[in-house]
Amino acid sequence: MGKSPIYGPVTSRRLGLSLGVDMVPYKVCSFDCIYCQIGPTKNPSVERRNFGFADNIVKAIQQKLEAGARADHITLGGSGEPTLNLETGDIIRGIKTLTDIPVAVLTNGSMLWDQKVRQDLCAADIVLPSLDAGDEETFKKINRPHPDISFERLLDGILSFSTEYSGKIWLEIFFIENINTSAAHVEKLKRLVQRIGPDKVHLNTAVRPPAEAFATAVDRNTLCAIAESIGDSTSVIAEFKENPDDAVEAELPEEALVDMLLRRPCTLNDIATALHVNPSLAVKLLDQLVARGRVTITSSGSRLYYVCKEESDFSQ
Ligand code: SF4
Repeated sequence: MGKSPIYGPVTSRRLGLSLGVDMVPYKVCSFDCIYCQIGPTKNPSVERRNFGFADNIVKAIQQKLEAGARADHITLGGSGEPTLNLETGDIIRGIKTLTDIPVAVLTNGSMLWDQKVRQDLCAADIVLPSLDAGDEETFKKINRPHPDISFERLLDGILSFSTEYSGKIWLEIFFIENINTSAAHVEKLKRLVQRIGPDKVHLNTAVRPPAEAFATAVDRNTLCAIAESIGDSTSVIAEFKENPDDAVEAELPEEALVDMLLRRPCTLNDIATALHVNPSLAVKLLDQLVARGRVTITSSGSRLYYVCKEESDFSQ
């Protein structure tokens, strides 16, 4: 066993302080989204596999909690599509024997046509599926799915899950400039949201460096106008408010920092907030990592992001 499949707690725009669980090895995913923050999917897959680390995940969470970790949610997600882990149900149930902290699952929704996947997710407290398109053509353009996942199959799965599940569904829609932002497309998405009936709808856009440079972000005003037209339960996912005053001076372990950057590109403030350190301390270590070539800096809009592309190896 190499890197731990548990990371954080990190700050999440939707889930507050989130203890993350990386459910699949790097980039095992059924989609190859143009906006993906963690890089391209070489071979999209719909095969659910037993990666053999359910016990490790549950034990690692137990150790974190015993060591005093605090979290608002324990979040199953990570470097790909979590439901491709055949042990998803066992992992959720195992976590729930340890703690009352709600379990949330981030999913692209592509496997919800499978009744076993829907059953597995019924053990979670919150499921956060994505739906970025209102038709097949746009779906293929944005999500570039495995050939077995048609738009109809994706939608049928989400609709079936929404009727069977008694927990909360928070739907995420990711908007890309000039791809799914026309009034006609927003209207299609609105009608689908009405059919699904999620508890919340979160609108997102490519503020972090995307897999494809042409996946450009929608501006905030446009996103707010779309939120208003979709309905009451819809909000733009707010940027998490950093509070550097709460930052604690401490040693910043290099591996904790690299571990965080392996999951997604982060700004200096993301890092300082998540790791509870002063930004001035974080920047010193980041400068060293950049000088050694372990971390690179990239820009998206007016922001600078720190990126680490080493592949995680916890499945080995
Ligand atoms: S954004 Fe999520 S669903 Fe899309 S390719 Fe990346 S990991 Fe897969």
